[in-house]
Amino acid sequence: MFVILELLFTHLSNDYKTKLEVIIMSRFTSEQVSELNDKLKTPEEVLEWGLENVHPKLALASSFGAEDVCVIHMLSKINPEARVFSLDTGRINQETYDVMDEIRKKYNTKIEITFPDASEVIEMVQTHGMNLFYASAENRKLCCGVRKVHPLNKMLSTLDGWITGLRSDQTQNRQTSTKIEIDEQHDGMIKLNPILDWSWEQTMGYIKENDIPYNKLIDQGFPSIGCEPCTRAIKPGEDLRAGRWWWENQSDKECGLHMDHKK
Ligand code: SF4
Repeated sequence: MFVILELLFTHLSNDYKTKLEVIIMSRFTSEQVSELNDKLKTPEEVLEWGLENVHPKLALASSFGAEDVCVIHMLSKINPEARVFSLDTGRINQETYDVMDEIRKKYNTKIEITFPDASEVIEMVQTHGMNLFYASAENRKLCCGVRKVHPLNKMLSTLDGWITGLRSDQTQNRQTSTKIEIDEQHDGMIKLNPILDWSWEQTMGYIKENDIPYNKLIDQGFPSIGCEPCTRAIKPGEDLRAGRWWWENQSDKECGLHMDHKK
């Protein structure tokens, strides 16, 4: 029986294979996820569900932006053992390390840090230089791949679900996300976006109201913070993500963490 199934599988197109793999790997059906999206309204409800059903194989991916610290605050109230991990690309700001330590102290959170593979970084910078990202979009995506996407994929391969601080008004491709979704790019694992429908003002209001430590670059005009060489302050009236990869086309402002960039 298994041999017949295996034979059938090898004759499917790659597209169908991926879909079939996602169905097999996912612990939750799309119907269940749709029902959950109808039922769970608040960010806390989404997180409570995740912690009850997926913890400890569930973790927040945090870059310690404004959105992430709000989610960490909520997680700490629901379950102090909730897991948080962060991708240290080797190019982040001192202010990001500062808020990381403040959060660690305030919530007693053990932050799991991931680093890029050293041999991949060495090969990349020896071939293209330290500041390769300014030379072309291709180089920038290569750098994001080595420093962010590969470490993320490695971490996610150990989990059944992940949490993000995504907000739907950040970029166009985030507008089709839902609070709870099956992440087809990562083997059908569950992905929770609890504050997807929050505005920037709501996010900052929550930080102030709850006295949550936040990245001090925000006060200097950096609402969206990535790596130091790839983020600048925005001017009044500019889009909140205008400071990210500012030298590139506006429509391509993703690093691949929330796109199909798996290798
Ligand atoms: S944001 Fe810039 S420095 Fe950071 S990984 Fe991407 S290209 Fe590299």
